[in-house]
Amino acid sequence: MIKFDQVSKLYPNSCLALDNITLEIKQGEFVTIVGKSGAGKTTLIKLLIREEIPTEGQIYFDGQPVLDMNRRQICQLRQRIGVVYQDYKLLPQQTVYGNVAYILSVIGASDAEIARDVPRALEIVGLSSKTDDFPSQLSGGEKQRLAIARALIHQPEVIMADEPSGNLDPYNTWDIIEVLNKIHQMGTTVVIATHDKDVIAQTEGRVVAMDEGRIIRDDYQTRNFVF
Ligand code: ADP
Repeated sequence: MIKFDQVSKLYPNSCLALDNITLEIKQGEFVTIVGKSGAGKTTLIKLLIREEIPTEGQIYFDGQPVLDMNRRQICQLRQRIGVVYQDYKLLPQQTVYGNVAYILSVIGASDAEIARDVPRALEIVGLSSKTDDFPSQLSGGEKQRLAIARALIHQPEVIMADEPSGNLDPYNTWDIIEVLNKIHQMGTTVVIATHDKDVIAQTEGRVVAMDEGRIIRDDYQTRNFVF
């Protein structure tokens, strides 16, 4: 489903963020990418949704080379891959409902579609009771849930969460991982990028460890609950 084939990324400031990465992620996987800050995790996500272009190598989504996509195809790609950003990217002047509805309105969804899909996304992340609240009224964990709801709204095939534990405490982190596990069980491919080793203890499936732009470990684990 996702394939990085010998991908390198050298930023204009001569920073080699990715160094010859080859990585394949299959449909339905739950992958945790772990690595120190600066290891290249965010760059990997940006390349996949064509926010950045690799210096070398090719990236495929569903067999299609991402580099060859035209504007329309890139738009479609970004609907098929929901990204939950580190800084949430919430709209402070909009309610919880408005934050999710906005994503649909920009692609021209009808009022009926918005009224059908927004409550469903909020229900999945457990925010149905906060519909009319503004982001400033939400806890850190709730903001993260709202960011996930926004990423879910196009019913993407893949959800990529960049540092989902962010500044959350261990309880809220566990809670967010549970939301991502639920989304995974619903059939979505989930990829988490984190610097937080404790997150690995709460996820199951594949762990890809990165360091200085390279993959240094790629294997499977069983779930190990830590309370
Ligand atoms: P991570 O998400 O693992 O923290 P990043 O992908 O954000 O890692 O960064 C990898 C490396 O690339 C870091 O050294 C970072 O400073 C550098 N980098 C990231 N974005 C840019 C950019 N836009 N321009 C220059 N260097 C960048």
